[in-house]
Amino acid sequence: MKKILKKSNKFIPYSTQDISKNDIKEVIKVLNSAYLTQGPEVLNFENSIKKYNKCKFATAMNSATSALHAACAALGVGKGDIVWTSSITFVASANCAVYLGAKVDFIDIDPSTNNLSLSHLEKKLIKAKKNSKLPKVIIPVHLSGLPCDMEKIYKLSKKYNFKIIEDASHALGAKYKLGLVGNCKYSDITVFSFHPVKIITSAEGGMAVTNSEKLDMKLKLFRGHGITRDPSHMKNKKNIYEWNYDQISIGYNYRMSDMHAALGLSQLKKINKFKKNREQIANLYDTQLKNLPVELPSKEIFKKSSLHLYIIKLKLDYIRFSKNDIMQSLRDDGILVNFHYMPVYHHEFYKHLGFKKNYCKEAEKYNKSAISMPIYPSLTRKDQNRVINSLKKALS
Ligand SMILES: *Cc1c(COP(=O)(O)O)cnc(C)c1O
Repeated sequence: MKKILKKSNKFIPYSTQDISKNDIKEVIKVLNSAYLTQGPEVLNFENSIKKYNKCKFATAMNSATSALHAACAALGVGKGDIVWTSSITFVASANCAVYLGAKVDFIDIDPSTNNLSLSHLEKKLIKAKKNSKLPKVIIPVHLSGLPCDMEKIYKLSKKYNFKIIEDASHALGAKYKLGLVGNCKYSDITVFSFHPVKIITSAEGGMAVTNSEKLDMKLKLFRGHGITRDPSHMKNKKNIYEWNYDQISIGYNYRMSDMHAALGLSQLKKINKFKKNREQIANLYDTQLKNLPVELPSKEIFKKSSLHLYIIKLKLDYIRFSKNDIMQSLRDDGILVNFHYMPVYHHEFYKHLGFKKNYCKEAEKYNKSAISMPIYPSLTRKDQNRVINSLKKALS
């Protein structure tokens, strides 16, 4: 009896990893092998991601944050440069530019997708051109796994001469037009995260993919202290033995270990099953929540979300409660709903850089209405029904 009670009251997180026996076996194999840190499994993982996304080069790192830092550095971001990203994203999409001494600015969102707004972006570019303050790099974020309209952003990049890093931390497996996010057809570099809540996990980990050999070399140097072992990249080519190496630029230790790579690789093999699970969960929400005073996620025709998050937005004009009341009510039922994300410029650190509270109008509205509902491959129908009933109760 006690056990049943405990089970029915268990907490339901907004997301969690799905680790199989085989995942564990693959990690243990590495522990019994000759390499623990970056070795053959990292190469295998990189090659598998390249094949999956249909891009030419991939660099695995210890997090997406590291990969974003490396991507900005590879594109030459430094002091005096300007980098723009979406106002609604995880802080890492902005911090990567701050690490390099650049100035960050934020683009308001389009309430129909919650991604950066193209009309806002274009207006901002026209104004920036007049003031000679055009960004060097723009970092579109595929929030919740729904791709931004990359073809349009790419066209603007040619007109206004900026580079593009896609923050695809949510979007492994997401479709855009005929390809997958990460084919880098409309960007210079795309970054994925393998944090446990994301589409697949390597515990900690990230990857930067590109179709440019030159950028790939820079990403790999940045990952490994700026050190090369390739004699053709060394200045002094005399007396080079295989144990020689030379540091030719500044870099960090952003390597992924072979244990992490083995886990990521094993997880990648299950991505289609994970995607199907997420689709089933989203479909049930779509049908069960459609008569509630909430806005459901967008289903734009050229874009197929990886469904990392299922974000609902409360129609506050039809509800007697605030978002915090609703979230607290669900949490009291053991449903650990969450919020992704408050506008980056609301954070204390960015306020100190001079951003004011109401900087982006749509981001402010989003802040007051958006809630992330639980969605992860192992969420059972029974638990999801608990979530749905708890939300209905909170809204009544
Ligand atoms: C998770 C996430 C990151 C950072 O990923 P890590 O692998 O944890 O460093 C960056 N950007 C976005 C949008 C994210 O969701």
